[in-house]
Amino acid sequence: MLPLPPKIEFVMASSTPSSGRIFQNPILESLTKTHIAIPLVIFYGIGIASGYWSVHKLNIAVLPTLAMYLVGALFFTLIEYTAHRKLYHMGTAGSARKVRIQYVMHGVHHDHPRDKKRLALPPVLSVVLAAAFMGLYWLVLGDHGIAFGGGFMTGYATYLMVHYAVHTMNPPKNIFGVLWKHHNLHHYVGDEGAFGVSSPLWDYVFNTMPEDPMKKRKSAAAV
Ligand SMILES: [Zn+2]
Ligand SMILES: [Zn+2]
Repeated sequence: MLPLPPKIEFVMASSTPSSGRIFQNPILESLTKTHIAIPLVIFYGIGIASGYWSVHKLNIAVLPTLAMYLVGALFFTLIEYTAHRKLYHMGTAGSARKVRIQYVMHGVHHDHPRDKKRLALPPVLSVVLAAAFMGLYWLVLGDHGIAFGGGFMTGYATYLMVHYAVHTMNPPKNIFGVLWKHHNLHHYVGDEGAFGVSSPLWDYVFNTMPEDPMKKRKSAAAV
C-alpha cells in the first residue's frame, strides 16, 4: 500500500475552475484547448463506424466483431493506466526539459484539474494518434483489427467522458460514485497511485491502489 497523508479534500463542481498558460504563442496556446464534445463525437463516431464496417463491409459476424470490440476497449483501459502512470507521471529528476514536457502533457491538468477545455488532447493530435493505432491494429490483426480499434476508440471516448464528468460534476449517489472517489484520490491525496480513470481495475492488478484515508482514520481510531 502507498503511504498517504492523513487528510483528503474533495474538490466539487461548485468551486471555481481556473486555467493555466502553457505557451506564450497564442496560436499554440489555443491548440491546447478543446471543447469536450468534439473528441466525444469523433471517437464514439469512429467506434460505431468500425463496428458497422466490420460486419457490413468486411463480412465478419456480429459475435466475433463484438468480442474484438470489447477486447479493444479493455486493452484501451490498460494503455490508459500505463500512459498515465509511466508517461504522464514519468520521473523528471534533474531534467528541466522533462519537467517542461511533463507539465505540458499532464502537470497543467494537476494544477488546474477543473479547466474544462484541457480535459482532452487537441483533436488534431488525437486523430493522428488514432490513425496510427488503427493502422497498427490492422497490420497485426488483419480485418479483425478494425473492430478491435473501434473498441479501443470507444474506450478512449469513455475515458474522456468519465474524466470530464469527475472534474465538472458532483459525484452521483450510485455505483459510478466510485470513479469520482478513485480519481480524486489521485488528484488530492497522492499522485503515486490510482492511475486508472475509467476504472480502478489495473490499480488492483498492479497494486497501486491507495489506501482510503477515511478507512485508515477509522481503523487508527479503533486501535
Ligand atoms: Zn484528472
Ligand atoms: Zn495524473
